Amino acid sequence: MNKTIPFAIIGAGPAGLAAAIACGPGAVIIERNREAGVKLLLSGSGQCNFTNTLAKTDFIRACRKAGPFLKPSVYSFDNDYFINLLGEAGCPSIARKDGKVFPVSLKAEHVRDALLKAALLNGADIVYNVHVLSIQKTKTGFSLKTKENTIHCKKLLLACGGASWQQTGSTGDGYAFAQALGHTINPIKPSLASIETAQTASFSHSAGSTVTNVKADFISSGSRHSDTGDLLFTHRGLSGPLILNNSHLISKGDTVRIHLLPEAEKLVSQALQTNPKRNIINALKILPLTEAILTSTLHYLRIYIDTPVRELNKKQINQIIGFLTAADFTVSKVESFATSMSTAGGVVLKEVNSHTMESRLVPGLYLAGEVLDYALPTGGFNIQAAFSTGSLAGKSARV
Ligand SMILES: Cc1cc2nc3c(=O)[nH]c(=O)nc-3n(C[C@H](O)[C@H](O)[C@H](O)COP(=O)(O)OP(=O)(O)OC[C@H]3O[C@@H](n4cnc5c(N)ncnc54)[C@H](O)[C@@H]3O)c2cc1C
Repeated sequence: MNKTIPFAIIGAGPAGLAAAIACGPGAVIIERNREAGVKLLLSGSGQCNFTNTLAKTDFIRACRKAGPFLKPSVYSFDNDYFINLLGEAGCPSIARKDGKVFPVSLKAEHVRDALLKAALLNGADIVYNVHVLSIQKTKTGFSLKTKENTIHCKKLLLACGGASWQQTGSTGDGYAFAQALGHTINPIKPSLASIETAQTASFSHSAGSTVTNVKADFISSGSRHSDTGDLLFTHRGLSGPLILNNSHLISKGDTVRIHLLPEAEKLVSQALQTNPKRNIINALKILPLTEAILTSTLHYLRIYIDTPVRELNKKQINQIIGFLTAADFTVSKVESFATSMSTAGGVVLKEVNSHTMESRLVPGLYLAGEVLDYALPTGGFNIQAAFSTGSLAGKSARV
């Protein structure tokens, strides 16, 4: 690689591959791994939930704070465009009832292979086993230092991903590169992470139980916000979209207040009145919660599950109603970068032109994918956003 590359792309994840497809001839992906899309291969438990069926407006709304920034790229390269592109490259897809879109084969490998095939067919190139160590701006472009040599390019895309699951190659290099070139990096934090709670031991029997469409308040010393979604009890604590989508805003010591059964006062009173001869666990079984959650709740409140209803005192009944109405879980741990699915924080969005993905500070420098400061929900948003921002960067940098 002695020649100057017209458009170098660091990273062969969905953002880098999409940029190579959109740019075509002149684009060269530089990837440190010996194959493309290692993180993509893990996505969706190896099945790759690469997008969803949401209309563009709803997709942007679900992206919360990052929505306005992502709008130009998502509108230019939306889910239909992504689905068609993969289909034409031999990877048809299927939408589940919940709107999540997967390859028909349910094999992430097929998404990766289709993106790679499309990039190569469009005239882009890729080199593997090349780890970029540092970048310098030159008069005519950029020079990229690797262990073996220095690569020169006119335009450059940082598609190096975030800092989670570092064994996939995404070790946070993109943040260091962007910062060295003058960009501001908002502090990074694990995102799409499960949490452990102080109450975990009492609730371990509920592992695998889901409560749909439940409201939670996330309370920390300086702030409080609420969200609604599906909650999953795990062996170690809490997960599911409700927790994952808010995990970047949660810290150790915070309280997660879950409104398991907002109408508990009415429903519990009815359950006890209609079943006075039963024991408490059997009486409560008519509530719309799993038996495991009800058992864990009683266990946590130190109420014996076989206690006859008529032997319950007022305080115990109020405790049950109070907990099911608003249960406080104290966060003892948020999953780390080692296991969180994504990274929040990163290159400050206002320093990037959302209509081209070009840096507002360094002409010829582009940024796309998870290296950017966004924290998106679970459900195909992250791969779609990497694809859309990467495609827009590749189109803008086209030579
Ligand atoms: C377990 C797991 C499951 C997930 N499931 C889903 C899912 O189902 N749906 C969804 O939408 N999202 C999912 N995600 C998130 C999604 O995979 C990422 O958001 C997405 O891959 C980010 O794309 P990217 O192109 O920005 O970065 P990445 O995919 O991380 O790619 C960056 C590439 O850059 C390379 N690189 C980095 N630094 C250098 C360097 N210095 N030199 C050369 N190469 C470099 C890396 O090796 C890597 O290949 C999941 C993530 C994980 C970890």
